[in-house]
Amino acid sequence: MDVTIGTIGSHSALQILHGAKLEGFRTLLITTPNRVKLYKSFNIADEILTVNSFNEILDIEEELLEKNVVLIPHGSFVEYIGSENIKKLKVPMFGSKDVLEWESSREKMEKWLRESGLKTPRTYKEGDLVENLAIMKFPGAKGGRGYKLLPKGTLIEKIPKDGIVQEYVVGVPMYFHYFYSLVNKELEIMSIDRRYETNADAIPRIPADIQRSINVDISYVVVGNIPIVVRESLLPEIFEAGERIVEASWRLMKKGLYGPFCLEAVITPEMDIVFFEISTRIVAGTNFYINGSPYTWIKYNKPVSTGRRIAMEIKEALSKGILDNLLN
Ligand code: ADP
Repeated sequence: MDVTIGTIGSHSALQILHGAKLEGFRTLLITTPNRVKLYKSFNIADEILTVNSFNEILDIEEELLEKNVVLIPHGSFVEYIGSENIKKLKVPMFGSKDVLEWESSREKMEKWLRESGLKTPRTYKEGDLVENLAIMKFPGAKGGRGYKLLPKGTLIEKIPKDGIVQEYVVGVPMYFHYFYSLVNKELEIMSIDRRYETNADAIPRIPADIQRSINVDISYVVVGNIPIVVRESLLPEIFEAGERIVEASWRLMKKGLYGPFCLEAVITPEMDIVFFEISTRIVAGTNFYINGSPYTWIKYNKPVSTGRRIAMEIKEALSKGILDNLLN
């Protein structure tokens, strides 16, 4: 096939390139010199280009264009290159660029969630008193580092610019992974995970009396992902939430959401699913499912990871002569 699937060496690159190879594509990895040995050991890249930092991808665009590369964005791709630079990329990228802008602004993301009619946590303004428990999210906080919990009765004096104070929803967090196929106009549930977060998941290991006597701040930095299957009776609502998010995106943006995405939610004891974030590209929680998830196994009867699903979509679009619709 005359298309090379490429991505940068971090986040979910192993999964993306592994899936591309299974579908018969040539693969290319762009990474920093210190990671070459690792990626080589997995044998998933036909070619590895090295850059000293990931944003140098802009300097090697001509080479990527010559090699007919289609770039697959992932979390680190967006973080390292930035949504502004991504807009300038000449190398074709799988997925909408408009959605990345909506993902990176908290205000826009909230609007998107609300326009979709999903249940969301209450947001607080300056001068409000915390009703029960609230979480203060700082701008640019990488993976929940430095988020602050504000107990009942706290007066919210100042909210940092681009920060947000939200009702802290007491329940279990779940991350729903979807794929919306633009070729088939169909939504698929791919898999579900929860994050393993330090030290939110570490503090409960310390007895409460000792917790009080030591000085640990809660933070939600992700270090791994744990697979989940959800109660089947919750699946219809989860599916509908994904559909609404896709529908709303095409109303709100020039080019809406398609391909892989994730909705982040907390499920309460009342079975309310409260959605607090959208990720508009492949998330690292899908990495567990290289060999497919229970849900993709049922649909495909073969191992289909999200990385492989992306390659399947590109392959189908190529065979129908409509690949350009998926690239930006
Ligand atoms: P990131 O920017 O890393 O995606 P998130 O906004 O997802 O950060 O938040 C990190 C973690 O904080 C989540 O995994 C979840 O456990 C917790 N969290 C965030 N918002 C809420 C909320 N409104 N209620 C309860 N927990 C929350």
